Amino acid sequence: MPWPADSAILDGMRIIGLTGGIGSGKTTVAERLRQKGAFVVDADKVAREIVEPGQPALAELADAFDGILTPEGGLDRAELARQAFASTTATDKLNAITHPRIRARTAELFDTAAEEGREVVVYDMPLLIENGETETVDTVLVVDAPDDVRIARLVGSRGLDEDDARRRLAAQVDRQTRLAAADVVLDNSGDIETLVAQVDAFWDEV
Ligand code: ATP
Repeated sequence: MPWPADSAILDGMRIIGLTGGIGSGKTTVAERLRQKGAFVVDADKVAREIVEPGQPALAELADAFDGILTPEGGLDRAELARQAFASTTATDKLNAITHPRIRARTAELFDTAAEEGREVVVYDMPLLIENGETETVDTVLVVDAPDDVRIARLVGSRGLDEDDARRRLAAQVDRQTRLAAADVVLDNSGDIETLVAQVDAFWDEV
């Protein structure tokens, strides 16, 4: 079953799944929606939180994989990724430890939104389409920009090497697939003000 559906009290709540490829402008959109008063569940943040020091998942990962803790006791993500993506068995081991925690924490956040009486929740999930979660949301909101524009932004403002940026784009679903899955598209091929104006118009109609 989908993550948000693990929440016990979703009746009547509208879930907007915010997604888009790397460098498309998701963070910018999520930030604007927060400013407008939206309750945003940030999937990347949840994934980071459940492996923080003191969390049971971190101790279990440290038992299951070798040398994945930093001297300070935090998670050495690069080392974990190196080991966990080396084989499907290792990836399964990683997922068995992290996925239940991610689901539980995500459901908890949806519960909180419901308890607050929120009628709309934004689920900020970069891999919504890749993970087949589009059916779990009411509206798929896609932030879109041409590949070359995204690459230029990632190189220009994020300092990524161009080949690296291209590789990361290629590892995700392509633009047409993402657009085909969208209920609403925010066009981020122009400037940030134009994007923000579209976010505001979308939010006003929600
Ligand atoms: P990621 O998937 O890497 O987290 P993202 O989809 O969250 O990226 P943002 O972080 O919002 O995208 O945007 C990527 C970069 O491009 C940022 O540095 C942002 O400031 C810049 N950017 C976003 N939209 C525009 C725009 N319309 N014009 C110029 N720069 C932009």
